[in-house]
Amino acid sequence: MTEQRITEQCVTEQRREREDVPGHPGGARGAAEVDGAWEALVAAARRTVSDGLVVGTSGNVSVRVGDTILVTPSGVPYDRLTPDDVTGVDLEGRQVLGTLVPTSELPLHLAVHRTTDARAVVHTHAVHATAVSTLVTELPPIHYMAGALGGPVRVAPYATYGTEELARNMLHALAGRTGCLLRNHGTITYGTTLDQAYDRTAQLEWMCRLWLTASSVPGLTPALLTPEQLAQAGERLRAYGQPGR
Ligand SMILES: [Zn+2]
Repeated sequence: MTEQRITEQCVTEQRREREDVPGHPGGARGAAEVDGAWEALVAAARRTVSDGLVVGTSGNVSVRVGDTILVTPSGVPYDRLTPDDVTGVDLEGRQVLGTLVPTSELPLHLAVHRTTDARAVVHTHAVHATAVSTLVTELPPIHYMAGALGGPVRVAPYATYGTEELARNMLHALAGRTGCLLRNHGTITYGTTLDQAYDRTAQLEWMCRLWLTASSVPGLTPALLTPEQLAQAGERLRAYGQPGR
């Protein structure tokens, strides 16, 4: 465990620090934005557990506020995170908020925040998605919701967790997409809001479950969408949003 509970004195210092969030000069308003973003981040991290996308603390979430990346700390159960546990780094990974150790998967989050318009990133070890990552190099286009992720979802080649090599592999797999699978590891998605990033993870896990279900019927092979069908669905999703919303 790397948990380092902060003392009351540290809390006071941290609050003072937070009033000048790097890259987000806004005084008390900036601090309020950080507090609100942290609250939403903790709620999303807890939801990954209650929705069955994560077991224990094996997933992580990040949210960008200005040039500060708020991120789940390493090894602390999400139900024990408090408003005073705000953990933040700059785009180079230097800790600028809090004293808890940032997630060991930080390179994945930083790579996405540096190279895309992401405001939030969600990483999980969701079981169906991780199973699919061991079977194929691309999730077969079984459902048009792949259009919501930019097209057929690729699988990034395996590399040790927490390494720059894995971050590079992920960025290749994410080209033109807002989500991908990581071989023998899990999922990563991003969005312009935390809700959007979270929803994309849930949709990705659902599509993987769907493909595993359909492709496990003996003697039958699931029908797949053509690139044209997927492109048309993608255009419609961008224009009208998701059905039922
Ligand atoms: Zn992971």
